[in-house]
Amino acid sequence: MNEHNGSRFAHITKAHPCFNEKMHDKVGRAHVPVAPKCNIYCNFCTRNINDEENRPGVTSCIMKPDDAISHVDDVTAEGPISVVGVAGPGDSLANEETFEFFEKLGKTHPDLIKCMSTNGLLLPKYADRLAELGVNSVTVTINAVDPDIAMDIYSFIKYEGKVYKGYEAAEILIKNQLDGVEKAAKNGMVVKVNSVLIPGLNDEHIVEIAKEVKKRGASLMNVLPLIPLNKMKIYERPGCSMMEKVREEVEEIIPVFRACTQCRADAYGIPGKKSEDHHLGMTPQSHY
Ligand code: SF4
Ligand code: SF4
Ligand code: SF4
Repeated sequence: MNEHNGSRFAHITKAHPCFNEKMHDKVGRAHVPVAPKCNIYCNFCTRNINDEENRPGVTSCIMKPDDAISHVDDVTAEGPISVVGVAGPGDSLANEETFEFFEKLGKTHPDLIKCMSTNGLLLPKYADRLAELGVNSVTVTINAVDPDIAMDIYSFIKYEGKVYKGYEAAEILIKNQLDGVEKAAKNGMVVKVNSVLIPGLNDEHIVEIAKEVKKRGASLMNVLPLIPLNKMKIYERPGCSMMEKVREEVEEIIPVFRACTQCRADAYGIPGKKSEDHHLGMTPQSHY
């Protein structure tokens, strides 16, 4: 890490609960669910609108950018929020509202850290635009860098007006994810990569993801356990020992974030603090 990158990283991590384990239960974040549409189909994804489920991909409502700004006004008046993120419930970059929201947020709350999560398909296209809007940190979910493995994780992608399936879809997605990580990092954003660990499918492959994303400029990785839903209902949720083994392997290559408990797309407050962690009723799938 060069000096410039080091100071940029320190500035963000000092106040970002998703990039600094020591700050995870001390500073707040607010998710605004402005991005309902998605442009890919992950086989484990089940987006939902409800108040009960505590997992990514769930939110209690979808907000318009202006409503999201009012929500930020309210929650920042209520408690110590340092980061505002767009985390779905679909893919942030597949929704024009994400850009509109960040533009307005830059004017109304210039001091807040701007964060977002994405599946990365459109990151090469939009990394410059995000940098211009002052987005500071990006989380890209990459579950495989080998198309043969990715084919079993994604059913299709919609890209530039066409639907792609199988190997071709996997190749396009992986190329764009890695190019997107590189472009976002070169544009000054701090990049974290999330990988969903799917036992028997990518558990021995996550270390390869780590090597690739490190080369492309990612700063941190977060390995998340599969929540077996939708077409992946038949898979097992990985146990603690498998999670720990993979995280240890990944840590040889790139720092690993371990405090994440997979919060919702509309969460706000201090993560994990019962009295201070709230949600509107739903979670971010793009994060997952
Ligand atoms: Fe954290 Fe992701 Fe939300 Fe950013 S978008 S604040 S990294 S949970
Ligand atoms: Fe970010 Fe995970 Fe913490 Fe939620 S639980 S604030 S997604 S690190
Ligand atoms: Fe889209 Fe995220 Fe669901 Fe995948 S997990 S289909 S990227 S919303």
